[in-house]
Amino acid sequence: MQYIGTHLSLAKGFLAMGKDALSIQANTFQCFLRNPRGAKAKELNIADITALNQFMKEHSFAPIVAHAPYTMNPCSTADRVRELAYEMFEGDLACLEYLPGNYYNFHPGSHLGQGAHKACIMIADLLNRVLKPEQSTIVLLETMSGKGSEVGGSLEELRMIIDRVELSDKLGVCLDTCHVSDAGYDIINDPDGVLNEFDTIIGLNRLHAIHLNDSLNPPGSRKDRHACIGEGTIGLEALLRILNHPQLAHLPFLLETPNDLKGHGEEISLLKKESQRRKP
Ligand code: FE
Ligand code: FE
Ligand code: ZN
Repeated sequence: MQYIGTHLSLAKGFLAMGKDALSIQANTFQCFLRNPRGAKAKELNIADITALNQFMKEHSFAPIVAHAPYTMNPCSTADRVRELAYEMFEGDLACLEYLPGNYYNFHPGSHLGQGAHKACIMIADLLNRVLKPEQSTIVLLETMSGKGSEVGGSLEELRMIIDRVELSDKLGVCLDTCHVSDAGYDIINDPDGVLNEFDTIIGLNRLHAIHLNDSLNPPGSRKDRHACIGEGTIGLEALLRILNHPQLAHLPFLLETPNDLKGHGEEISLLKKESQRRKP
């Protein structure tokens, strides 16, 4: 079973996202729980959330991923921004308890000149405040391209955060193929080498989801601009090797390519068809 999904908008509600996913033969998806460039959360419609839960069970969906807003920065130099990160994080995790057993993915943050080490301490501090032993959500640190002062452009930085988190059984990683390639990890020619490195530094048991994106820029460019599947510098073959890698094939794969719902549907059917063709 392959689990491939896309990024959807909550604008029409929770159940509507499940239906949109199914309409393009996706069996997982990712969404924001609030304005990705703001802070405000929508009022929760519990009946709608429960309906999505039921829908996902009926259609054997893999776990879904809620993505934290881009504006969230747990390692900002400004107290108010860090406090806002806490409020958004806590609110989103509370919402997700109505959708038990799924993932919450966030960009670790930008250190804004303070250095990665200090930033990792701040990020871990936030996690130590928000993570609760009874929560059913696993929180995912996203691998980043390392542009600007972004934290998480190396696996060692993610490890630094994990090491400082008390409830680290609630903590995992989401690997973004565009970001890791832009960060200089050679997933094009040496995916096994990258996965071995991941296993050594972080542990593959912490890898819970993949953002499957092509990249507009060459490996190591530290740019973070996504391309459609097969139209970037990573290419279809390399992305298929990741999608069908025996150590990854059970994970949810989320497309974050610059495409609309119909376009994502076409990418999903391309990925499935080409995976079939290459089966030994
Ligand atoms: Fe992201
Ligand atoms: Fe991503
Ligand atoms: Zn990105």
